Amino acid sequence: MSEAGLRPRAVFLDRDGTLIEEVGYLDRPERVALYPWSTDAIRAFNRAGVRVVLVTNQSGIARGFFTEEVVRTVHDHLAELLAAGRAHIDAYYYCPHHPDGKIAEYARKCDCRKPGPGLVERAERELGIDPGRSFAVGDRWLDIGLARAVGARGILVRTGYGVTEEGRPPEGLAADAVVDNLIGAASWILKELC
Ligand SMILES: [Mg+2]
Ligand SMILES: [Zn+2]
Repeated sequence: MSEAGLRPRAVFLDRDGTLIEEVGYLDRPERVALYPWSTDAIRAFNRAGVRVVLVTNQSGIARGFFTEEVVRTVHDHLAELLAAGRAHIDAYYYCPHHPDGKIAEYARKCDCRKPGPGLVERAERELGIDPGRSFAVGDRWLDIGLARAVGARGILVRTGYGVTEEGRPPEGLAADAVVDNLIGAASWILKELC
């Protein structure tokens, strides 16, 4: 398939339970634990020319559990871990909001909390991504909901909350694929590109 003249594809990648272990509210960089296959999966996307855009709901900011600064420190640490394996994430986007938040400036309904399309629209604006040629990967149905909201394909992974989520699909929402983990998602996506 010719890529000429087309806007780039991306994988909109969930963080907790998909790229790194789900540990509840992640409030310190020392608690970041990549799954053993995560670096290989990201490197495979890098080599295939698929942009990797991390999109994560971080309502812990609105709830007052940690600050945006902490989230940025976590992402800097994550970038270092991936760089050690010659892999990189092209952009790190997060939603700091929640309607029931305690911190006034973040306590609101927004359009960037997944499955809202705000973070993907930002990637479209800032990185020129074509969501219609892209994929969302995550361990929650809201990640699949995001895919639906932006016209991307959605892949549910069985890590994190994924096994539980697989057993209780919401009415009217189905994943394009359900796979064991992120490397399974990478295999599925890269096969689709051939
Ligand atoms: Mg998740
Ligand atoms: Zn938001």
